[in-house]
Amino acid sequence: MEEQPAPDISLLAERYNPLEQRFRPEDSPFTTLFADITHRCNMACRNCYIPVRDLPDLPVDWLYDILARLPHRTRIRLVGAEPTMREDLPEIIAKVREMGHLPVVLSNGLKLGRASYVARLKEAGLGTCYLSLNGGLRDDLYLEIDELACADRKLKALDNLLAARIHVTTGTIIVPGVNDAHLPEFLEFLVAKGVRDIHLRSVGEVGNYMQGKSLRLDALEEIFRASLPASLPQPELIGEYGSSRDFRAGRVSIQLTEWPELGSLERGRITPDGWLEPMFESIVANAGHY
Ligand code: SF4
Repeated sequence: MEEQPAPDISLLAERYNPLEQRFRPEDSPFTTLFADITHRCNMACRNCYIPVRDLPDLPVDWLYDILARLPHRTRIRLVGAEPTMREDLPEIIAKVREMGHLPVVLSNGLKLGRASYVARLKEAGLGTCYLSLNGGLRDDLYLEIDELACADRKLKALDNLLAARIHVTTGTIIVPGVNDAHLPEFLEFLVAKGVRDIHLRSVGEVGNYMQGKSLRLDALEEIFRASLPASLPQPELIGEYGSSRDFRAGRVSIQLTEWPELGSLERGRITPDGWLEPMFESIVANAGHY
């Protein structure tokens, strides 16, 4: 394989441990790519797959060069740590759109509590936001899982996104013995709000995580089925691949995922030396570094 030019983010590249299975941007097989645009965050959750904070932000021109070389339209997941920590997030979203790709932001939602900021992201071209809601409706659960009582701010973010007509995917890590008993009430709330895309996943044993709380996919499904609100029809399994199961219940899609989700060539990650790697293999290989 020929070498790609390294970006001027030497600390990041220095810590990076390349995988054997990797692709040049021109040969990307991925429909979704994760771009870790910043390592800064305004939270300190107990389950954080990428807890390294002392790395520089990704230079945007370097990122745009990678995106320009992709062979097909790709969903670009702008992630962090927390992508809203970057002041230029609206410009990045606009540029990804302009280049013909689909920008998606994965956020903890703290900054999305401001309606004017959400409107700016929408105006820039944001169509989809993945919002993490690990504590559901309850401060005590956020405090236990994410070390911050932030239910009001998270729920305000959800309202703002829905009001701006940005498609919302909610993401909730199921921590047995902590938030599983709250799931029926929370699912009922989400369905009543009009959320159509709900992701539930296990605690992933990578980065920082709550010990002894990981679930296998069958256990996750058991909790999900025991938590169904009366307002939802019986979910139908519509797809199963690797570590994920997709369900449809009326107009609502539910995805269950056991983390890390290995062996998939759907989601890739842009590496600091300009290659693309399968997302979860990349995270596992670099746990605690990049
Ligand atoms: S999980 Fe997300 S919000 Fe929480 S500390 Fe990690 S990057 Fe920040």
